[in-house]
Amino acid sequence: MAMNAFSKLTHQIARLYSNLLSVPCLLCASPCTTHAVCNECIAELPILGSHCPRCATPISANLTCGHCLNNRHKQDKTFSLFSYQTPIDRLIGDFKYHDSVYLSAFFSSLMAEQLNQSILPKLLMPIPLHPKRLKQRGYNQSLELAKNLSNQLAIPTDKYNLIRNRDTPPQISLPYDQRKRNLRNAFTLKPCNLPDHIALIDDVLTTGHTANAAVKLLRQQGVITIELWTIARTISHD
Ligand SMILES: [Zn+2]
Ligand SMILES: [Zn+2]
Repeated sequence: MAMNAFSKLTHQIARLYSNLLSVPCLLCASPCTTHAVCNECIAELPILGSHCPRCATPISANLTCGHCLNNRHKQDKTFSLFSYQTPIDRLIGDFKYHDSVYLSAFFSSLMAEQLNQSILPKLLMPIPLHPKRLKQRGYNQSLELAKNLSNQLAIPTDKYNLIRNRDTPPQISLPYDQRKRNLRNAFTLKPCNLPDHIALIDDVLTTGHTANAAVKLLRQQGVITIELWTIARTISHD
């Protein structure tokens, strides 16, 4: 009897301790100690299914898509962990616009688990924000992702050499036909020594114009293999 009471008490203490250490899951509010989102909700997230290896467009088999056969996407390979749908769109919105910078650790740890299995690039380069936008937001979400991925995968990050020249409107806010023009001369790449294999880091891949503008500059400086890593891939416009 005394033993039962003791065991009940230790169980209650353990539960109290675990509740003290936990935070509510962002999606279901149940207590969670490991991530911002609990393991049950992580298991339900919309992982990108079979897709084109070059641009991550979802297609029924892992084959090169028609757009890539026409060379529309300039990178050699794309890794996008999720399809940009509920609730990933909301979590990325929080990450970018609601000061939830801590979500970079959550997203990058899920990305790194998958990326650790492939041949890794020698350098990570986040898509830069214009200084004006950086000042408004307080952080560049792509740089935060890159920093976490750097730690987890032991790859250096270069945050200095790729620069944003203009404060372009967000691609997602523009009609499709204006998006390419919006990115014209948006970036500058400083002359620098770059390795032959680089991954660009961005939050979401939409039309691919942002990545194309950066890839063009990297190619001009002799980079041979260029990957694009994003948290999510939109499925519209392709
Ligand atoms: Zn949950
Ligand atoms: Zn493709």
